[in-house]
Amino acid sequence: MSVIFVFVDGVGLAPWGHDNPLSDAPTPALHALLGGALTSERTGVSTATLLRPLDATLGVAGLPQSGTGQTALLAGINAAALHGRHQPHVPPVALRSTLAARNLFSRVIAAGGRATFANAFGTPYWEALATRRVRRSASVIAAEGAGMRFRDEDDLRAGLAVTWDITGETMRIREGSVSTVEAREAGARLARLATDHDLVFFETFLTDLAGHGRLNGAAATRSAPMPIVTQIHAAMARIDGLIGGVLDAMRPGDTLVITSDHGNIESLAAPTHTRNPVPLLVTGPGVPHFTRLTSIEQVADAIVALAQEQQV
Ligand SMILES: [Zn+2]
Repeated sequence: MSVIFVFVDGVGLAPWGHDNPLSDAPTPALHALLGGALTSERTGVSTATLLRPLDATLGVAGLPQSGTGQTALLAGINAAALHGRHQPHVPPVALRSTLAARNLFSRVIAAGGRATFANAFGTPYWEALATRRVRRSASVIAAEGAGMRFRDEDDLRAGLAVTWDITGETMRIREGSVSTVEAREAGARLARLATDHDLVFFETFLTDLAGHGRLNGAAATRSAPMPIVTQIHAAMARIDGLIGGVLDAMRPGDTLVITSDHGNIESLAAPTHTRNPVPLLVTGPGVPHFTRLTSIEQVADAIVALAQEQQV
């Protein structure tokens, strides 16, 4: 039995309201799971499902950012406090070796478990890294440190990987054509990978991009600018499809864990990140491992403990 960890960038947990696009986002799978929208009113725990707010400020002033937030999630350390401030985009240089050496992947593997990074990376990504047009994300640093194989176009074609944008509409593929998939099929692939891994990790940045109003350029096919709320709803619809696909295909013993690094899309008040808590959504028999968590830096420990317990 396995843990399927889905990381969604820039999703906070806030009350239902007209300022919160999650209130009326088209998310039927989340509604079925939570009995309503992904808002703070749905916070609570049943035997099968948990929704809990997690602090993402890490006790540090200013707006939480992805570099330190994702490092906190994957390494289980208070990256913002160690760095002295929140850092956007990529992990602080001084924390990269810590992240590479000890993260939720390397810990699961060190304990004899099998961990996999479900995202597919195309050749253009590695070329961009080599020429320093992009810098390594927290997830890539962690996976490299753990010695994991990165999935590629061949895995996509075999139905054994998912692109960061879920459907594959925006991933630049150089080596031949890889057809797009429905979001539900992408979710089913994560559940499929869980049959021979103790931990399956998938990450998407659709939500944070939408919250910044940049989904258009990055992930939409049409050229006319979309209002931010439309972008957020489009991103959430796709993520909800993925979640629905996971829920339909995962085994009864599998546990799905979804969380974020910082708030953004739950507030239209400003096109920036927020200091709101982020949702920790867990469904499956692993729920008891997560009922006491209060901060994003505690997620890695809980996932590692659960993955070890489930390993057979
Ligand atoms: Zn952002």
